Amino acid sequence: MHHVTDFTLFKEVMEILPTPVLIKDTQHRYIFINKAFEALFQVNRADILGKQDKEVFSDRQVAQCNGGDLRVLATGEIDEAYESVFDSNAEQREVITRKSRLTLANGETYLVGTIYDITDVTVMNQQLMVNQEKLKHQSQQLEKMANTDPLTGCNNRRALDNQLPTLFKNNALQGGLLAIDIDNFKKINDHYGHHVGDLCLQKMVETITDIILGKYQLIRMGGEEFLIACAGIEYKKLTRLAEQLRNEVAEKDYHFLDHDINLTISIGVAHTDQMPQWDLDKLINSADKALYKAKALGKNQVQ
Ligand code: GH3
Ligand code: MG
Ligand code: MG
Repeated sequence: MHHVTDFTLFKEVMEILPTPVLIKDTQHRYIFINKAFEALFQVNRADILGKQDKEVFSDRQVAQCNGGDLRVLATGEIDEAYESVFDSNAEQREVITRKSRLTLANGETYLVGTIYDITDVTVMNQQLMVNQEKLKHQSQQLEKMANTDPLTGCNNRRALDNQLPTLFKNNALQGGLLAIDIDNFKKINDHYGHHVGDLCLQKMVETITDIILGKYQLIRMGGEEFLIACAGIEYKKLTRLAEQLRNEVAEKDYHFLDHDINLTISIGVAHTDQMPQWDLDKLINSADKALYKAKALGKNQVQ
């Protein structure tokens, strides 16, 4: 007779637990399992009691269980392990097993174990993680869309407000802006149609993007007006870049729908060296003023 399984009250409590419980003797033979254990593995206690795992379960399961059993009986340390077991339908269940050595006053030693089935929680967690990844991806796409001009693919004005302050902060508030405006664009639209105007805009953005190569930020401020944020650049280099951009845009062939179009831009330059202290709004304003001057002095030029 095993004293540990001999109490009616103890048994009643074990039977109503939703958690599978097992007790083994020092020979690894089952001397007690509760109803939840029977349900998980779809076994009858009559077929289990007095038997070892290897007589009842598959090799794989036995190998997993035994390691913990030996350790617990030998050391008395509580063993908690994350395991995959196979239920009666050969379906994999994710469980946490917790085993402990129990020594009675009379010296009898037993192994007591509980199994906490976390399969459903695990599956839900995995689904949750997949959904979270999806949501993250979608919100990144939305964020990108919200900052992108659909016609040209470059940043829009929203990006300016969001990114420019940090862009310059990361470059010790040094650098400059180029305000760009297409010359006589209204005439191009009037002569060749709005569609051709759109194609010109796209081609011009492509030309500029090829030159600035992701080093600087091109922003469409609206219509045919653009801004390039060049954080970290010296004043001389900035004016050279502006001249290069103006030249390349003017040299490019704009041949659309059998029309050869003469497209030029005017550029206003502003640099932090020209300012007594950092002020983004003033920097933008200064670039705008320089652009206005470039227009007044005959267009297709840098000021
Ligand atoms: P300036 O040399 O002084 O800049 O003259 P402009 O004709 O370029 O300037 P204005 O501001 O008078 O005209 C800008 C034109 O740009 C008017 C508008 O129809 C056109 N425009 C604005 N956005 C778009 C667009 O997305 N596509 C096309 N095709 N045209 C646009
Ligand atoms: Mg214009
Ligand atoms: Mg304009």
